[in-house]
Formats: sequence, structure tokens, C-alpha cells
Amino acid sequence: MASIFSRIVTGEIPSAKVYEDEHTLAFMDINPASRGHTLIICKEEYPGLLDVPPRLVEAVARTTQRVARAIMTTLQPDGLNIVQNNGAAAGQVVFHYHIHIVPRWKGDQVSPFSRQGKADPQELQELATMIGNNMH
Ligand code: 5GP
Repeated sequence: MASIFSRIVTGEIPSAKVYEDEHTLAFMDINPASRGHTLIICKEEYPGLLDVPPRLVEAVARTTQRVARAIMTTLQPDGLNIVQNNGAAAGQVVFHYHIHIVPRWKGDQVSPFSRQGKADPQELQELATMIGNNMH
């Protein structure tokens, strides 16, 4: 069965999309660790880093860097956590290769592995549009 992220790629499940190209898609995490928490996925479905062809690792890394820059411009955080979980023991829940960008502010007490509960879809869409508009 297709992963939840594959169903986001096809549009079967809605998402707040930031950016899309041939191989990668970036969208807001529905259950963010901090404001602006964004996921970058490889459109083709592979469980984790160890399974992805190198050319797609590179494509995801390039998109991650571009989205990270756009988040810095848009939200002006003091830092970013880039997180990528492999295996249930490491906290992976969706077995479709993805990278998390978690914006951080000084003294925010956020753990990039914690979640703040479901975000407001309209707010996620506004963030996605703002970040997407700053993509270069
Ligand atoms: P993992 O723990 O597998 O590295 O992270 C999976 C992430 O996907 C979690 O942060 C979770 O909040 C997010 N997530 C799970 N289901 C959905 C969904 O349907 N839509 C969006 N936008 N994010 C999701």
C-alpha cells in the first residue's frame, strides 16, 4: 500500500505545499515541533536513507538547502535542526524517506523530536505560501 506521503504526492491527501520539482516535494508538517517545521521528501517511495538511490539523496539534499534558506529569510529563526529518522527505534513513523527542517529560536525549549499537536491548516497554508515565495 502507498505510504501516506505517496498519497500526498498524488494529491489524494491534502498538504500545505512549499515547493515541488521532478523528484522532490516540500510541505508543512501537520504536527509541527516548531513554527515552520517543514518536511522534504523524495517523491518516489523508499523507506529510509539506506534505500534511496544516491541521485535522489542528492536531489532531496539540494531541495532541503533551498527550503532551509527560504525558511531563514521568511521566519528569521536563530537556527535550524535538520533531522532524519531511520527505523522505528529511531522514532521513524512514516516509512517514506524524508528530512525534517525544524526552525529554532533562542531559549525556545523545543526538542526537534517533540510535537506540539495538530496545527491549524490555514496557518500551515499561509506559512507554506510565504516560504515558497522565498524559494530561489
Ligand atoms: P518521522 O517520525 O517518520 O521522521 O516523521 C513523520 C512526520 O510526518 C511527523 O513529524 C508527522 O507529524 C508527519 N506527518 C504524519 N502524517 C502526516 C500527514 O498526513 N501530513 C503531514 N503534512 N505530515 C504528516
